[in-house]
Amino acid sequence: MTNSTSSPRALHAFFGGTFDPIHYGHLKPLESLAIEIGIKRVILLPNFVPPHRIPPQASALQRLNMVELAITENPLFTVDDRELYYTIPSYTINTLKALRAEPDTLMSPIAFIIGQDSLLTLYKWHDWDSFLDLCHLLVLARPGYYPHFKRPDLQQWLESHRITNAMLLRQKLHGYIYLAHTPELNISSTEIRKRHHNRLKYDHLLPCAVHRYIELHGLYY
Ligand code: ATP
Repeated sequence: MTNSTSSPRALHAFFGGTFDPIHYGHLKPLESLAIEIGIKRVILLPNFVPPHRIPPQASALQRLNMVELAITENPLFTVDDRELYYTIPSYTINTLKALRAEPDTLMSPIAFIIGQDSLLTLYKWHDWDSFLDLCHLLVLARPGYYPHFKRPDLQQWLESHRITNAMLLRQKLHGYIYLAHTPELNISSTEIRKRHHNRLKYDHLLPCAVHRYIELHGLYY
């Protein structure tokens, strides 16, 4: 009989983001994470309008198009556009519940990947303290952010779920936090939008197909 701590299983990894636009600060650390923990697939989940963020500048379709252009030649990535069809603001917890109930992932570990900055503000996300009942959290390093909460209860939450052996991610369906040793790239969508607006060079910060799309569609002026 199988139990929740027995044999290794496929780890389904999801990475949510506004992707306004997608950039190398998303893609390169994910490629490195895939090697670090041995996964062959990362599913990108573009957000609709995250309730805790200001609205994106590009439309949902434009953000999706840019994600698709960014990953066409990289078999590591696929995109799941379900959140873009929601008619009300999408909460990550609802997506995680839906993923957990699907046949592919029902009995498999799910990893939800976030950047270090997002880990520090996760407590502001809707129903955040239920996340670990549904998935593991994998955290990408990000320049200027460290895994230290000012609030002792949050630090305690981190320490009590944190693992350092990535193999454990396959032995339970959910419940662990893994801080990855991914490269720190000082790139953000905000910086790209600002650079473009100020007519500064930004093509080295994202895939060239995404750069071309931004120029062609006159985004971020
Ligand atoms: P913005 O500048 O508009 O806030 P962003 O660059 O942070 O955008 P998002 O699409 O909002 O990008 O981020 C999606 C996820 O990617 C978040 O979990 C975020 O922490 C993570 N992330 C974004 N940029 C980096 C980076 N350079 N290194 C590591 N993680 C990143």
